[in-house]
Amino acid sequence: MEIVNNQYQLSGGVDPLGLVEKYGCPLYVYDTSIIERQYKRLNNAFSWKKLKVNYACKALTNINILKFIKSLGARLDTVSIQEVKLGLKAGFEPSEIMYTPNCVSLEEIAQAVKVGVMVNIDNLSILEQFGQEFPDYPICVRINPHIMAGGNNKISTGHIDSKFGISIYQIPHVKRIIQATGLKLNGLHMHTGSDILDIEVFLSGAEILLNVAQDFEGLTYIDFGSGFKVPYKSDGISTDIEELGERLTERFAEFCSVYGSDLDLVFEPGKFLVSESGYFLAKVNVIKQTTSTVFAGIDSGLNHLIRPMFYDAYHDIINVSRPTGKTRIYTVVGYICETDTFGINRKISEISEGDIIAFKNAGAYCYMMSSNYNSRYRPAEVMVYNGQDYLIRKRETMDDILKNQVEIPLFDEVIA
Ligand SMILES: *Cc1c(COP(=O)(O)O)cnc(C)c1O
Repeated sequence: MEIVNNQYQLSGGVDPLGLVEKYGCPLYVYDTSIIERQYKRLNNAFSWKKLKVNYACKALTNINILKFIKSLGARLDTVSIQEVKLGLKAGFEPSEIMYTPNCVSLEEIAQAVKVGVMVNIDNLSILEQFGQEFPDYPICVRINPHIMAGGNNKISTGHIDSKFGISIYQIPHVKRIIQATGLKLNGLHMHTGSDILDIEVFLSGAEILLNVAQDFEGLTYIDFGSGFKVPYKSDGISTDIEELGERLTERFAEFCSVYGSDLDLVFEPGKFLVSESGYFLAKVNVIKQTTSTVFAGIDSGLNHLIRPMFYDAYHDIINVSRPTGKTRIYTVVGYICETDTFGINRKISEISEGDIIAFKNAGAYCYMMSSNYNSRYRPAEVMVYNGQDYLIRKRETMDDILKNQVEIPLFDEVIA
């Protein structure tokens, strides 16, 4: 969102306040031009000709976003059989979908095999069972390289006591299972968690994975996962994707020449592709002054955007109604009967009750983590594409709240 003639605008000159008038509030808005910019940036950063970008769709699975991302040329990374089904419905071929579950049953994995998607296994127990049941189905194995990457403990997945991946120290066991079952490994994978700040850490993880790869014949791809950090603050730090691209491409080329074949170099960005495309628009209901704090209370809460409370995530907040006013200091809170604080001591252009504010970086893990807590409706979603706006998910209604409740007649007589 940029300020043009004293007003915030989305790409193509779309007015965010107009969207609130048209679709109501609170509202999630996704600007596809930003997804496209990020996709191209990633592709340009890696000159390896067999680069494959698998969009990690748990970040945002609205089917229209999936179709848009497919139109760019990306493939899909999924973590549940439901995401696999959404991907197929959006038009991805099974061969374009990677299924990377954690702690799911063999029955669910069998469903993925049935539809023919790529399967990534991350524990020895399931690997052994899988090998006995589907010895002819080539698979990928998720390795845990034991590096501490990731913005905080909750989103780091590569450390020694992580539940994700098969430890590099257990590679001999992987080999034993392959030998005993006749399984064929065609891919190796790692994903060390979100928010990688240090390229050196990422590259040392990659080095470990390449070392493992040398030992396996017949690989066709190596998947380096994701964890690319995007800026959440205006002065924010992000992964230097261009430098990473240059260095990893060079190292990968060297590996492939020794290995004797040019493999696919795969990434699975979620946040990197969609985070910055999203804005969450909400209305300020109340300005409340206590002895020490000025609260701005909005018509939303942790039911719609939980990252600030769940991860201490920082989301920049702007006053869309007053782009250029003098700034004052606010603590922005929600309407849920919990302490749901979105941001403390934020400098925001002076807010009046009724103003529309926007949370930035609301594309990834925001709508997807929303709930009906306090029996409130989930918001609508709108996509902006080529200067036009499209409703891509309706706001919920009371019917949605009641949809799966089964009302039994037991007490009707007593309460009548
Ligand atoms: C969540 C996830 C990703 C995406 O992570 P981001 O930080 O959003 O880029 C990639 N791979 C796997 C296996 C994941 O679970």
